[in-house]
Amino acid sequence: MRILITGAAGFLGSHLVDRFLEEDCRVIGVDNLITGALRNLEHLEDEPRFTLLRHDVSLPLYLADELDGILHFASPASPADYLDLPIQTLKVGSLGTHNMLGLARAQGARFLLASTSEVYGDPQVHPQPEDYWGHVNPVGPRGVYDESKRFAEAMTMAYHRTHRLETRIARIFNTYGSRMRPADGRVVSNFIVQAVRGEPLTVYGDGSQTRSFCYVDDLVEGVFRLFHAEGPGADPVNLGNPGEFTVAELAELVRDLAGSDVAIERRPLPQDDPQVRCPDITRAREVLGWSPRVSLEEGLRRTIPYFRRLVTEEGASARTLE
Ligand code: NAD
Ligand code: UDP
Repeated sequence: MRILITGAAGFLGSHLVDRFLEEDCRVIGVDNLITGALRNLEHLEDEPRFTLLRHDVSLPLYLADELDGILHFASPASPADYLDLPIQTLKVGSLGTHNMLGLARAQGARFLLASTSEVYGDPQVHPQPEDYWGHVNPVGPRGVYDESKRFAEAMTMAYHRTHRLETRIARIFNTYGSRMRPADGRVVSNFIVQAVRGEPLTVYGDGSQTRSFCYVDDLVEGVFRLFHAEGPGADPVNLGNPGEFTVAELAELVRDLAGSDVAIERRPLPQDDPQVRCPDITRAREVLGWSPRVSLEEGLRRTIPYFRRLVTEEGASARTLE
């Protein structure tokens, strides 16, 4: 199979490239490196089945190569990134998705959209099943990300219904692991980098807000199965780990596992920060036979050495919201 992955130099995109190469596919990665890093792909320098195109997918892309599948993962994903890049975020979710759907249609390729738990906003239903429509503030700071993904889902369904394109929508919940940038700004990378550097962990608000953290290998397996599965059709599928933790609990766990006794520093809670978030993964269990295997503790144990190396060798630091 020949697969195109947008956002290939990013955290999830680069792991997906590896996964499809393992299955003997040819992979074309597309990335403009706005939040990605070439180092995530440097192990593929001599891999003849992989090609990287440096291109902004918010601009049209015409390819002569035949494609069997497109996985659209390009988008700033960390709140720190999309708050810095609001217009690029809206464009890649809207124009970028439209362009990639057009390419999929021209090639008769299956299309998978990387959507997000953010489509549920600050949810009033808990845990969140796929048939919950969400609670999003379109004009708040996070609206640029939430609405771009909601638009992307609507556009994907329109191509499915109008052009009979084979489409899949993965609603991905907070995922962490190696290849995240140390200064990505998301909570897991921030806390690990801060603990390793001996700096206080920056907890926003009182730390009572919850998230459900999925280890990258589990997520990649879920996306891979969803791409190939016939069962779910075009309906969205939640992919995430239903284990739910408060941010304060995560801080304690990271401190323990990193062997660090740094202080906790309270910072203001960002506007519209969801109070709870936890996936209902019944659909993924039923149609994909998938559920996460790696606990938060085990996933953090696997992830800490990656960030420790970047801190020790390169003096990497975290990034907090102003
Ligand atoms: P990331 O920032 O590490 O990767 C995103 C990649 O997309 C980067 O390499 C970036 O350079 C590239 N990109 C952005 N805009 C582009 C454009 N216009 N043209 C070409 N490339 C572009 O983020 P990630 O965590 O790997 O997220 C990947 C995808 O998964 C995103 O679509 C995100 O919304 C989705 N997602 C991730 C999570 C998570 O927890 N990691 C959760 C929900 C959804
Ligand atoms: N957070 C925090 N300290 C940080 C970074 C994030 O307390 O240094 C909190 C943030 O306010 C949110 C949660 O951790 O409640 C998850 O934030 P993240 O940026 O990882 O992703 P989100 O789930 O908000 O998209």
